[in-house]
Amino acid sequence: MNIVQCTFCKKPFASLGGRACPACLEQIDRDFITVRDYIYEHKHSNIDIIAKETEVSKQIIMHLLKEGRLIIDSPDGDGLLVCEMCKKPINTGRLCKDCMGKVASSMDKNVTANKKPEPKPEEPNIKGSAKIGT
Ligand SMILES: [Zn+2]
Ligand SMILES: [Zn+2]
Repeated sequence: MNIVQCTFCKKPFASLGGRACPACLEQIDRDFITVRDYIYEHKHSNIDIIAKETEVSKQIIMHLLKEGRLIIDSPDGDGLLVCEMCKKPINTGRLCKDCMGKVASSMDKNVTANKKPEPKPEEPNIKGSAKIGT
């Protein structure tokens, strides 16, 4: 168990791997329901309005969006979230659909690559290293 600083209230706590303390996790769960219900009723809201109307901090809303628990229903996600690979605006999560596909296929490649025997380390270049001065 590690003592880490809670991302939300900045208090140290004993973490089992998460970045939020138990008190904040509970708060986030309550806020999640509030925000989810709000978005359900007000489909084309933006984060400023949601934060104001629900009294949930933007930081928590962003956290929920990045976790993929919330989806803001607008074509470009209001530019709040961008794909971590190609920087395209997305509605939820960390990667756009294209990049998720790329990551998935590159993981497939890695799996097959790992099955092959490892390439031998390259021979040192003797010609080059023997050349001293002119
Ligand atoms: Zn906390
Ligand atoms: Zn992308």
